[in-house]
Amino acid sequence: MNLKCKRCLPKEGIEVEKIDENLKQQIVTITKDSKILGVKFIMDNCEFSHLEAKFLIQHLNIENEKCHNCKTSISTDEYVICKKCQALNINWLNI
Ligand SMILES: [Zn+2]
Ligand SMILES: [Zn+2]
Repeated sequence: MNLKCKRCLPKEGIEVEKIDENLKQQIVTITKDSKILGVKFIMDNCEFSHLEAKFLIQHLNIENEKCHNCKTSISTDEYVICKKCQALNINWLNI
């Protein structure tokens, strides 16, 4: 799966298959405390660049069922494009 967000870079998107489910849960937990540590954790545990790690953390939902960008209600699918602002939302909370 190639993740993209219309609102921001990188335009080429990010392949997320290489993150396993365990890591996703840990990333959410860490990011709730600190986005900086979340970025670092992704770089240390997955093969992502700093830019890609930042992209993931920026779009990660740490508040249930609300768009990270505009706070509109969104579905609980793992990857959701917000209907209102077109931002990508990554829901790793409920997996
Ligand atoms: Zn975006
Ligand atoms: Zn939105």
